[in-house]
Amino acid sequence: MDKAQEGKQAGKAQIGVTGLAVMGRNLARNLARNGYTVALHNRTTAKTKALVEEFGDEGDFVPAETAEEFVAALERPRRLVVMVKAGEPTDAVIEEFAPLLEPGDMIVDGGNAHFADTRRREAALRERGLHFVGAGVSGGEEGALNGPSIMPGGSAESYAALGPMFEKIAAQVDGTPCCVHVGPDGAGHFVKMVHNGIEYADMQLIAESYDLLRHAAGLDPAQIAEVFRTWNTGRLESYLIEITAEVLAHTDAATGEPFVDVVLDQAEQKGTGRWTVQTALDLGVPVGGIAEAVFARSVSGHADLREAAQGLPGPAPERVADAGFADKVEQALYASKIVAYAQGFHQIAAGSAEYGWDIDLGAMATIWRGGCIIRARFLNRIREAYEADPAMATLLTDEYFADALAGAQDAWREVTAVAARIGVPTPGFSSALAYYDSLRAKRLPAALVQGQRDFFGAHTYRRVDRDGSFHTLWGGDRSEVEA
Ligand code: NAP
Repeated sequence: MDKAQEGKQAGKAQIGVTGLAVMGRNLARNLARNGYTVALHNRTTAKTKALVEEFGDEGDFVPAETAEEFVAALERPRRLVVMVKAGEPTDAVIEEFAPLLEPGDMIVDGGNAHFADTRRREAALRERGLHFVGAGVSGGEEGALNGPSIMPGGSAESYAALGPMFEKIAAQVDGTPCCVHVGPDGAGHFVKMVHNGIEYADMQLIAESYDLLRHAAGLDPAQIAEVFRTWNTGRLESYLIEITAEVLAHTDAATGEPFVDVVLDQAEQKGTGRWTVQTALDLGVPVGGIAEAVFARSVSGHADLREAAQGLPGPAPERVADAGFADKVEQALYASKIVAYAQGFHQIAAGSAEYGWDIDLGAMATIWRGGCIIRARFLNRIREAYEADPAMATLLTDEYFADALAGAQDAWREVTAVAARIGVPTPGFSSALAYYDSLRAKRLPAALVQGQRDFFGAHTYRRVDRDGSFHTLWGGDRSEVEA
Protein backbone atom coordinates (compact mmCIF):
# COMPACT_ATOMS: atom_id res chain seq x y z
CA MET A 1 0.00 0.00 0.00
CA ASP A 2 1.53 3.32 -0.96
CA LYS A 3 1.39 6.52 1.05
CA ALA A 4 -1.57 7.86 -0.86
CA GLN A 5 -3.72 4.82 -0.07
CA GLU A 6 -2.65 4.69 3.58
CA GLY A 7 -3.67 8.30 4.07
CA LYS A 8 -6.99 7.85 2.37
CA GLN A 9 -7.83 4.93 4.65
CA ALA A 10 -7.08 7.02 7.68
CA GLY A 11 -9.40 9.69 6.28
CA LYS A 12 -6.75 12.34 6.60
CA ALA A 13 -4.80 14.41 4.13
CA GLN A 14 -1.16 13.42 3.63
CA ILE A 15 -0.16 16.97 2.93
CA GLY A 16 -1.65 20.43 3.13
CA VAL A 17 -1.04 23.61 1.18
CA THR A 18 -1.69 27.04 2.64
CA GLY A 19 -1.43 29.99 0.30
CA LEU A 20 -3.48 29.26 -2.79
CA ALA A 21 -2.39 31.95 -5.21
CA VAL A 22 -1.10 30.72 -8.55
CA MET A 23 1.85 28.69 -7.20
CA GLY A 24 0.11 27.12 -4.20
CA ARG A 25 -3.01 26.28 -6.17
CA ASN A 26 -1.06 24.54 -8.90
CA LEU A 27 1.18 22.68 -6.48
CA ALA A 28 -1.90 21.45 -4.60
CA ARG A 29 -3.47 20.29 -7.88
CA ASN A 30 -0.24 18.55 -8.86
CA LEU A 31 -0.18 16.69 -5.54
CA ALA A 32 -3.83 15.70 -5.88
CA ARG A 33 -3.37 14.56 -9.49
CA ASN A 34 -0.61 12.30 -8.21
CA GLY A 35 -2.98 10.57 -5.83
CA TYR A 36 -2.35 12.42 -2.58
CA THR A 37 -5.16 13.77 -0.46
CA VAL A 38 -4.45 17.47 -0.08
CA ALA A 39 -5.75 19.76 2.64
CA LEU A 40 -6.30 23.31 1.41
CA HIS A 41 -6.14 26.62 3.20
CA ASN A 42 -5.83 30.26 2.27
CA ARG A 43 -6.11 33.45 4.31
CA THR A 44 -8.92 34.56 2.03
CA THR A 45 -11.27 31.58 2.01
CA ALA A 46 -12.77 32.44 -1.38
CA LYS A 47 -9.59 31.11 -3.03
CA THR A 48 -9.96 27.77 -1.26
CA LYS A 49 -13.58 27.45 -2.40
CA ALA A 50 -12.72 28.48 -5.94
CA LEU A 51 -10.04 25.81 -6.18
CA VAL A 52 -12.41 23.07 -5.08
CA GLU A 53 -15.18 24.31 -7.36
CA GLU A 54 -12.94 24.53 -10.42
CA PHE A 55 -10.63 21.61 -9.92
CA GLY A 56 -12.25 19.43 -7.25
CA ASP A 57 -12.60 16.57 -9.71
CA GLU A 58 -8.85 16.33 -10.25
CA GLY A 59 -8.28 14.50 -6.96
CA ASP A 60 -9.04 14.43 -3.25
CA PHE A 61 -9.07 17.81 -1.55
CA VAL A 62 -9.96 18.64 2.03
CA PRO A 63 -10.82 22.37 2.15
CA ALA A 64 -10.37 24.11 5.49
CA GLU A 65 -11.51 27.57 6.48
CA THR A 66 -9.51 27.99 9.67
CA ALA A 67 -5.95 27.19 10.62
CA GLU A 68 -7.27 24.75 13.26
CA GLU A 69 -9.40 22.87 10.73
CA PHE A 70 -6.47 22.73 8.35
CA VAL A 71 -4.09 21.28 10.93
CA ALA A 72 -6.72 18.81 12.12
CA ALA A 73 -7.16 17.53 8.56
CA LEU A 74 -3.53 16.41 8.29
CA GLU A 75 -2.19 12.96 9.12
CA ARG A 76 0.72 12.88 11.55
CA PRO A 77 3.51 13.75 11.34
CA ARG A 78 1.95 16.68 9.54
CA ARG A 79 3.26 17.99 6.24
CA LEU A 80 2.26 21.57 5.79
CA VAL A 81 3.38 23.49 2.70
CA VAL A 82 3.38 27.27 2.87
CA MET A 83 3.13 29.03 -0.51
CA VAL A 84 2.59 32.64 0.50
CA LYS A 85 4.30 35.87 -0.39
CA ALA A 86 7.94 35.72 0.70
CA GLY A 87 9.11 37.83 3.63
CA GLU A 88 6.88 38.94 6.49
CA PRO A 89 3.82 36.97 5.31
CA THR A 90 5.87 33.76 5.64
CA ASP A 91 6.78 34.62 9.25
CA ALA A 92 3.16 35.53 9.97
CA VAL A 93 1.92 32.21 8.60
CA ILE A 94 4.56 30.23 10.49
CA GLU A 95 3.54 31.99 13.71
CA GLU A 96 -0.09 31.20 13.00
CA PHE A 97 0.51 27.49 12.50
CA ALA A 98 3.49 26.54 14.65
CA PRO A 99 1.55 26.72 17.95
CA LEU A 100 -1.01 24.29 16.52
CA LEU A 101 1.59 21.69 15.52
CA GLU A 102 3.25 18.88 17.47
CA PRO A 103 6.86 17.70 17.63
CA GLY A 104 7.94 15.98 14.44
CA ASP A 105 5.54 17.94 12.23
CA MET A 106 6.99 19.63 9.15
CA ILE A 107 6.50 23.10 7.75
CA VAL A 108 7.70 23.48 4.16
CA ASP A 109 8.28 26.96 2.77
CA GLY A 110 8.01 26.66 -1.00
CA GLY A 111 8.26 30.41 -1.57
CA ASN A 112 11.27 32.37 -2.71
CA ALA A 113 12.73 33.02 0.73
CA HIS A 114 16.22 34.35 1.32
CA PHE A 115 18.32 31.44 2.59
CA ALA A 116 19.37 33.46 5.66
CA ASP A 117 15.68 33.77 6.64
CA THR A 118 15.33 30.03 6.11
CA ARG A 119 18.29 29.36 8.39
CA ARG A 120 16.76 31.60 11.06
CA ARG A 121 13.33 29.99 10.77
CA GLU A 122 14.74 26.47 10.76
CA ALA A 123 16.75 27.09 13.92
CA ALA A 124 13.77 28.67 15.71
CA LEU A 125 11.38 25.87 14.78
CA ARG A 126 13.91 23.17 15.61
CA GLU A 127 13.91 24.56 19.16
CA ARG A 128 10.19 23.90 19.18
CA GLY A 129 10.61 20.34 17.92
CA LEU A 130 9.34 21.15 14.43
CA HIS A 131 11.04 20.52 11.10
CA PHE A 132 11.31 23.49 8.82
CA VAL A 133 12.06 22.77 5.19
CA GLY A 134 13.02 25.63 2.89
CA ALA A 135 12.25 24.24 -0.55
CA GLY A 136 13.17 26.09 -3.72
CA VAL A 137 10.52 25.53 -6.37
CA SER A 138 11.31 26.51 -9.94
CA GLY A 139 9.28 26.42 -13.09
CA GLY A 140 6.67 29.09 -12.45
CA GLU A 141 2.99 28.25 -12.45
CA GLU A 142 3.26 25.77 -15.31
CA GLY A 143 6.02 23.87 -13.51
CA ALA A 144 4.11 23.87 -10.22
CA LEU A 145 1.20 22.20 -11.99
CA ASN A 146 2.95 19.77 -14.30
CA GLY A 147 6.28 19.10 -12.62
CA PRO A 148 8.65 21.66 -11.16
CA SER A 149 12.27 21.34 -10.17
CA ILE A 150 12.24 21.12 -6.38
CA MET A 151 15.23 21.94 -4.19
CA PRO A 152 14.38 21.03 -0.59
CA GLY A 153 16.66 21.82 2.33
CA GLY A 154 16.08 20.88 5.97
CA SER A 155 16.74 17.75 7.97
CA ALA A 156 17.33 14.33 6.45
CA GLU A 157 14.45 13.08 8.63
CA SER A 158 12.01 15.51 7.07
CA TYR A 159 13.24 14.59 3.59
CA ALA A 160 12.52 10.94 4.34
CA ALA A 161 8.88 11.91 4.90
CA LEU A 162 8.56 14.51 2.15
CA GLY A 163 11.02 13.39 -0.50
CA PRO A 164 8.96 10.58 -2.04
CA MET A 165 6.00 12.95 -2.52
CA PHE A 166 8.10 15.75 -3.94
CA GLU A 167 9.96 13.37 -6.21
CA LYS A 168 6.65 12.09 -7.52
CA ILE A 169 5.26 15.52 -8.40
CA ALA A 170 8.56 16.91 -9.75
CA ALA A 171 9.52 16.96 -13.41
CA GLN A 172 11.12 13.69 -14.54
CA VAL A 173 14.03 13.49 -16.98
CA ASP A 174 15.12 10.08 -18.26
CA GLY A 175 13.24 8.53 -15.33
CA THR A 176 15.06 10.65 -12.75
CA PRO A 177 13.04 13.14 -10.68
CA CYS A 178 14.12 16.78 -10.66
CA CYS A 179 14.17 16.79 -6.88
CA VAL A 180 16.81 15.80 -4.38
CA HIS A 181 17.62 16.60 -0.77
CA VAL A 182 19.98 19.54 -1.21
CA GLY A 183 21.29 19.76 2.35
CA PRO A 184 20.47 21.07 5.83
CA ASP A 185 18.61 24.27 6.80
CA GLY A 186 18.94 26.96 4.09
CA ALA A 187 20.73 24.85 1.45
CA GLY A 188 17.64 24.45 -0.74
CA HIS A 189 16.82 28.14 -0.86
CA PHE A 190 20.49 28.98 -1.42
CA VAL A 191 20.63 26.70 -4.45
CA LYS A 192 17.33 28.10 -5.74
CA MET A 193 18.76 31.62 -5.37
CA VAL A 194 21.88 30.73 -7.39
CA HIS A 195 19.66 28.97 -9.95
CA ASN A 196 17.87 32.28 -10.43
CA GLY A 197 21.18 34.15 -10.64
CA ILE A 198 22.31 31.80 -13.41
CA GLU A 199 18.92 32.33 -15.06
CA TYR A 200 19.56 36.10 -15.11
CA ALA A 201 22.97 35.52 -16.75
CA ASP A 202 21.59 33.06 -19.29
CA MET A 203 18.81 35.48 -20.28
CA GLN A 204 21.24 38.40 -20.58
CA LEU A 205 23.62 36.42 -22.80
CA ILE A 206 20.74 35.40 -25.05
CA ALA A 207 19.60 39.03 -25.19
CA GLU A 208 23.11 40.15 -26.20
CA SER A 209 23.16 37.51 -28.94
CA TYR A 210 19.88 38.88 -30.27
CA ASP A 211 21.19 42.44 -30.15
CA LEU A 212 24.29 41.49 -32.14
CA LEU A 213 22.33 39.53 -34.72
CA ARG A 214 20.06 42.51 -35.13
CA HIS A 215 22.55 45.38 -35.16
CA ALA A 216 25.75 43.77 -36.38
CA ALA A 217 24.32 41.19 -38.79
CA GLY A 218 21.25 43.26 -39.69
CA LEU A 219 18.70 40.47 -39.25
CA ASP A 220 15.10 41.25 -38.35
CA PRO A 221 13.32 39.63 -35.35
CA ALA A 222 11.62 36.96 -37.46
CA GLN A 223 14.95 35.96 -39.01
CA ILE A 224 16.58 35.93 -35.58
CA ALA A 225 13.77 33.71 -34.31
CA GLU A 226 14.80 31.23 -37.00
CA VAL A 227 18.43 31.42 -35.90
CA PHE A 228 17.38 30.62 -32.32
CA ARG A 229 15.20 27.76 -33.56
CA THR A 230 18.22 26.31 -35.31
CA TRP A 231 20.38 26.78 -32.23
CA ASN A 232 17.74 24.97 -30.22
CA THR A 233 18.42 21.82 -32.19
CA GLY A 234 22.08 21.80 -31.10
CA ARG A 235 24.15 22.08 -27.96
CA LEU A 236 22.30 25.23 -26.83
CA GLU A 237 18.97 23.37 -26.70
CA SER A 238 17.11 24.77 -23.71
CA TYR A 239 13.83 26.20 -22.57
CA LEU A 240 15.18 29.76 -22.64
CA ILE A 241 16.40 29.48 -26.26
CA GLU A 242 13.07 27.92 -27.21
CA ILE A 243 10.96 30.71 -25.70
CA THR A 244 13.31 33.34 -27.13
CA ALA A 245 12.43 32.12 -30.62
CA GLU A 246 8.73 32.28 -29.72
CA VAL A 247 8.97 35.83 -28.37
CA LEU A 248 10.98 37.05 -31.38
CA ALA A 249 8.57 35.47 -33.86
CA HIS A 250 5.56 37.10 -32.22
CA THR A 251 3.86 40.04 -33.92
CA ASP A 252 2.01 42.73 -31.98
CA ALA A 253 -1.66 42.54 -32.92
CA ALA A 254 -2.31 46.25 -32.35
CA THR A 255 0.49 47.62 -34.55
CA GLY A 256 1.58 44.74 -36.75
CA GLU A 257 5.14 45.42 -35.53
CA PRO A 258 7.44 42.74 -34.09
CA PHE A 259 6.36 42.27 -30.48
CA VAL A 260 9.92 42.87 -29.22
CA ASP A 261 9.82 46.37 -30.76
CA VAL A 262 6.70 47.50 -28.90
CA VAL A 263 7.85 46.35 -25.44
CA LEU A 264 9.42 49.03 -23.23
CA ASP A 265 13.11 48.13 -22.95
CA GLN A 266 13.36 48.33 -19.16
CA ALA A 267 13.84 44.92 -17.55
CA GLU A 268 12.44 44.31 -14.10
CA GLN A 269 13.57 42.03 -11.31
CA LYS A 270 12.16 40.58 -8.15
CA GLY A 271 15.38 40.25 -6.20
CA THR A 272 16.82 36.75 -6.36
CA GLY A 273 19.49 37.87 -8.87
CA ARG A 274 20.45 40.71 -6.56
CA TRP A 275 20.60 38.30 -3.58
CA THR A 276 22.88 36.00 -5.58
CA VAL A 277 25.34 38.82 -6.21
CA GLN A 278 25.15 40.18 -2.66
CA THR A 279 25.80 36.71 -1.28
CA ALA A 280 28.63 36.11 -3.75
CA LEU A 281 30.28 39.32 -2.54
CA ASP A 282 29.99 38.12 1.06
CA LEU A 283 31.48 34.75 0.14
CA GLY A 284 34.21 36.34 -2.01
CA VAL A 285 33.12 34.43 -5.12
CA PRO A 286 33.58 36.17 -8.49
CA VAL A 287 30.25 35.91 -10.31
CA GLY A 288 30.80 38.72 -12.81
CA GLY A 289 28.48 37.19 -15.41
CA ILE A 290 25.58 37.09 -12.99
CA ALA A 291 26.41 40.55 -11.64
CA GLU A 292 26.55 42.02 -15.15
CA ALA A 293 23.15 40.54 -15.88
CA VAL A 294 21.67 42.12 -12.75
CA PHE A 295 23.34 45.45 -13.56
CA ALA A 296 22.22 45.28 -17.20
CA ARG A 297 18.61 45.16 -15.99
CA SER A 298 19.39 48.04 -13.67
CA VAL A 299 20.95 50.13 -16.47
CA SER A 300 17.94 49.47 -18.67
CA GLY A 301 15.65 50.76 -15.95
CA HIS A 302 17.51 54.06 -15.52
CA ALA A 303 15.52 55.97 -18.12
CA ASP A 304 16.88 59.26 -16.76
CA LEU A 305 20.52 58.31 -17.32
CA ARG A 306 19.80 56.85 -20.71
CA GLU A 307 17.93 59.99 -21.76
CA ALA A 308 20.78 62.20 -20.56
CA ALA A 309 23.30 60.13 -22.54
CA GLN A 310 21.44 60.16 -25.85
CA GLY A 311 23.74 62.78 -27.40
CA LEU A 312 27.00 60.96 -26.60
CA PRO A 313 29.00 59.97 -29.66
CA GLY A 314 29.35 56.39 -30.85
CA PRO A 315 30.89 54.70 -33.87
CA ALA A 316 29.29 54.92 -37.30
CA PRO A 317 26.77 52.08 -37.82
CA GLU A 318 28.34 49.11 -39.48
CA ARG A 319 27.03 45.80 -40.78
CA VAL A 320 29.21 42.75 -40.44
CA ALA A 321 29.48 41.20 -43.89
CA ASP A 322 30.26 37.71 -42.67
CA ALA A 323 27.96 34.84 -43.55
CA GLY A 324 29.38 32.93 -40.60
CA PHE A 325 28.69 35.66 -38.06
CA ALA A 326 25.60 34.00 -36.55
CA ASP A 327 27.65 30.87 -35.97
CA LYS A 328 30.32 32.93 -34.23
CA VAL A 329 27.66 34.48 -31.99
CA GLU A 330 26.49 30.96 -31.14
CA GLN A 331 30.03 30.12 -30.08
CA ALA A 332 30.37 33.29 -28.01
CA LEU A 333 27.03 32.55 -26.38
CA TYR A 334 27.98 28.96 -25.58
CA ALA A 335 31.37 29.95 -24.15
CA SER A 336 29.86 32.76 -22.05
CA LYS A 337 27.16 30.42 -20.83
CA ILE A 338 29.78 27.92 -19.68
CA VAL A 339 31.42 30.72 -17.69
CA ALA A 340 28.13 31.82 -16.11
CA TYR A 341 27.37 28.27 -14.96
CA ALA A 342 30.94 27.77 -13.75
CA GLN A 343 30.55 30.90 -11.63
CA GLY A 344 27.18 29.79 -10.26
CA PHE A 345 28.48 26.34 -9.35
CA HIS A 346 31.52 27.92 -7.73
CA GLN A 347 29.14 29.96 -5.60
CA ILE A 348 27.18 26.86 -4.58
CA ALA A 349 30.43 25.10 -3.66
CA ALA A 350 31.50 28.12 -1.61
CA GLY A 351 28.13 28.38 0.17
CA SER A 352 28.20 24.66 0.87
CA ALA A 353 31.67 24.93 2.42
CA GLU A 354 30.77 28.07 4.41
CA TYR A 355 27.62 26.60 5.93
CA GLY A 356 28.66 22.94 6.08
CA TRP A 357 25.93 21.77 3.70
CA ASP A 358 27.90 19.14 1.77
CA ILE A 359 25.96 19.85 -1.44
CA ASP A 360 26.39 17.38 -4.29
CA LEU A 361 27.02 19.72 -7.24
CA GLY A 362 26.36 17.09 -9.89
CA ALA A 363 22.98 16.40 -8.30
CA MET A 364 22.09 20.10 -8.65
CA ALA A 365 22.78 19.92 -12.38
CA THR A 366 20.67 16.75 -12.50
CA ILE A 367 17.59 18.32 -10.87
CA TRP A 368 17.80 21.41 -13.10
CA ARG A 369 17.50 19.34 -16.27
CA GLY A 370 13.71 19.53 -16.15
CA GLY A 371 10.92 21.61 -14.65
CA CYS A 372 12.91 24.78 -14.10
CA ILE A 373 13.57 27.85 -16.23
CA ILE A 374 17.21 27.01 -16.98
CA ARG A 375 16.44 23.44 -18.02
CA ALA A 376 18.78 22.49 -20.80
CA ARG A 377 20.60 19.69 -22.51
CA PHE A 378 23.81 21.40 -21.35
CA LEU A 379 23.13 20.40 -17.72
CA ASN A 380 23.87 16.77 -18.57
CA ARG A 381 27.42 17.87 -19.34
CA ILE A 382 27.72 19.53 -15.94
CA ARG A 383 26.35 16.43 -14.23
CA GLU A 384 28.90 14.28 -16.07
CA ALA A 385 31.73 16.68 -15.21
CA TYR A 386 31.01 16.47 -11.47
CA GLU A 387 30.55 12.72 -11.67
CA ALA A 388 34.02 12.47 -13.18
CA ASP A 389 35.58 14.79 -10.61
CA PRO A 390 33.41 15.93 -7.69
CA ALA A 391 36.23 18.09 -6.29
CA MET A 392 36.90 19.97 -9.54
CA ALA A 393 37.97 23.58 -8.83
CA THR A 394 36.13 24.99 -11.82
CA LEU A 395 33.89 23.58 -14.52
CA LEU A 396 36.04 25.35 -17.10
CA THR A 397 38.78 22.75 -16.79
CA ASP A 398 36.51 19.74 -17.25
CA GLU A 399 37.59 18.04 -20.47
CA TYR A 400 34.33 18.65 -22.34
CA PHE A 401 34.06 22.29 -21.33
CA ALA A 402 37.75 23.00 -21.85
CA ASP A 403 37.42 21.63 -25.40
CA ALA A 404 34.28 23.65 -26.02
CA LEU A 405 36.01 26.83 -24.83
CA ALA A 406 39.08 26.08 -26.93
CA GLY A 407 36.86 25.63 -29.98
CA ALA A 408 34.87 28.79 -29.29
CA GLN A 409 37.48 31.21 -28.10
CA ASP A 410 38.50 32.72 -31.45
CA ALA A 411 34.89 33.44 -32.36
CA TRP A 412 34.18 34.63 -28.81
CA ARG A 413 37.00 37.17 -29.03
CA GLU A 414 35.96 38.28 -32.50
CA VAL A 415 32.31 38.77 -31.56
CA THR A 416 33.25 40.72 -28.44
CA ALA A 417 35.64 42.88 -30.49
CA VAL A 418 32.97 43.53 -33.14
CA ALA A 419 30.53 44.52 -30.41
CA ALA A 420 33.01 47.02 -28.99
CA ARG A 421 33.85 48.38 -32.44
CA ILE A 422 30.28 48.98 -33.53
CA GLY A 423 29.00 50.03 -30.10
CA VAL A 424 26.64 47.19 -29.18
CA PRO A 425 26.79 46.69 -25.40
CA THR A 426 27.72 43.13 -24.46
CA PRO A 427 28.54 43.24 -20.74
CA GLY A 428 27.80 39.53 -20.36
CA PHE A 429 30.03 38.33 -23.22
CA SER A 430 32.84 40.73 -22.31
CA SER A 431 32.82 39.93 -18.62
CA ALA A 432 32.73 36.19 -19.27
CA LEU A 433 35.71 36.47 -21.60
CA ALA A 434 37.61 38.60 -19.09
CA TYR A 435 36.93 35.98 -16.39
CA TYR A 436 38.21 33.24 -18.70
CA ASP A 437 41.35 35.21 -19.50
CA SER A 438 41.85 36.14 -15.84
CA LEU A 439 41.82 32.52 -14.76
CA ARG A 440 44.11 31.56 -17.63
CA ALA A 441 46.65 34.31 -17.06
CA LYS A 442 49.99 33.25 -15.61
CA ARG A 443 50.35 36.63 -13.94
CA LEU A 444 47.65 39.15 -13.12
CA PRO A 445 48.13 42.87 -12.56
CA ALA A 446 46.94 42.21 -9.03
CA ALA A 447 50.65 42.37 -8.22
CA LEU A 448 50.62 46.05 -9.13
CA VAL A 449 47.46 46.61 -7.09
CA GLN A 450 49.25 45.09 -4.10
CA GLY A 451 52.13 47.51 -4.68
CA GLN A 452 49.72 50.45 -4.77
CA ARG A 453 48.03 49.28 -1.60
CA ASP A 454 51.35 48.96 0.15
CA PHE A 455 52.41 52.40 -1.10
CA PHE A 456 49.43 54.36 0.20
CA GLY A 457 48.31 52.24 3.11
CA ALA A 458 51.21 50.02 4.18
CA HIS A 459 48.87 47.08 3.55
CA THR A 460 51.87 44.79 2.92
CA TYR A 461 52.33 42.19 0.19
CA ARG A 462 53.60 38.67 -0.20
CA ARG A 463 56.48 37.75 -2.49
CA VAL A 464 56.70 35.09 -5.16
CA ASP A 465 60.09 33.87 -3.90
CA ARG A 466 59.70 33.52 -0.14
CA ASP A 467 57.12 33.24 2.62
CA GLY A 468 55.98 36.07 4.85
CA SER A 469 54.45 39.54 4.51
CA PHE A 470 56.51 42.52 3.46
CA HIS A 471 56.37 46.30 3.31
CA THR A 472 58.50 48.68 1.32
CA LEU A 473 59.47 51.95 3.02
CA TRP A 474 58.02 54.04 0.17
CA GLY A 475 58.43 57.37 1.98
CA GLY A 476 61.98 56.56 3.08
CA ASP A 477 64.86 54.76 1.44
CA ARG A 478 62.54 52.21 -0.25
CA SER A 479 64.16 49.29 1.42
CA GLU A 480 61.98 46.33 2.24
CA VAL A 481 61.09 45.26 5.75
CA GLU A 482 59.35 42.12 6.95
CA ALA A 483 55.90 43.00 8.26
P1 NAP B 1 2.15 35.60 -4.13
O1 NAP B 1 1.47 36.64 -4.95
O2 NAP B 1 3.60 35.73 -3.90
O3 NAP B 1 1.42 35.51 -2.70
C1 NAP B 1 0.02 35.47 -2.60
C2 NAP B 1 -0.40 34.48 -1.53
O4 NAP B 1 0.16 34.86 -0.26
C3 NAP B 1 -1.90 34.46 -1.34
O5 NAP B 1 -2.30 33.14 -1.05
C4 NAP B 1 -2.08 35.38 -0.16
O6 NAP B 1 -3.28 35.16 0.54
C5 NAP B 1 -0.91 34.97 0.68
N1 NAP B 1 -0.55 35.96 1.70
C6 NAP B 1 0.03 37.16 1.50
N2 NAP B 1 0.23 37.78 2.69
C7 NAP B 1 -0.25 36.95 3.65
C8 NAP B 1 -0.32 37.02 5.06
N3 NAP B 1 0.17 38.07 5.74
N4 NAP B 1 -0.87 35.98 5.72
C9 NAP B 1 -1.34 34.90 5.05
N5 NAP B 1 -1.29 34.77 3.72
C10 NAP B 1 -0.75 35.79 3.02
O7 NAP B 1 1.79 34.14 -4.73
P2 NAP B 1 2.53 33.24 -5.81
O8 NAP B 1 2.92 34.01 -7.04
O9 NAP B 1 1.67 32.05 -5.97
O10 NAP B 1 3.90 32.83 -5.12
C11 NAP B 1 3.95 32.12 -3.88
C12 NAP B 1 5.39 31.97 -3.47
O11 NAP B 1 6.10 31.22 -4.47
C13 NAP B 1 6.14 33.29 -3.35
O12 NAP B 1 7.08 33.20 -2.30
C14 NAP B 1 6.88 33.40 -4.66
O13 NAP B 1 8.05 34.19 -4.56
C15 NAP B 1 7.20 31.95 -4.94
N6 NAP B 1 7.40 31.62 -6.35
C16 NAP B 1 6.61 32.14 -7.31
C17 NAP B 1 6.81 31.80 -8.64
C18 NAP B 1 5.91 32.34 -9.70
O14 NAP B 1 6.18 32.06 -10.87
N7 NAP B 1 4.85 33.07 -9.37
C19 NAP B 1 7.82 30.91 -8.97
C20 NAP B 1 8.60 30.34 -7.97
C21 NAP B 1 8.38 30.72 -6.67
P3 NAP B 1 -4.62 35.98 0.14
O15 NAP B 1 -5.20 35.22 -0.99
O16 NAP B 1 -5.41 35.95 1.37
O17 NAP B 1 -4.19 37.37 -0.25
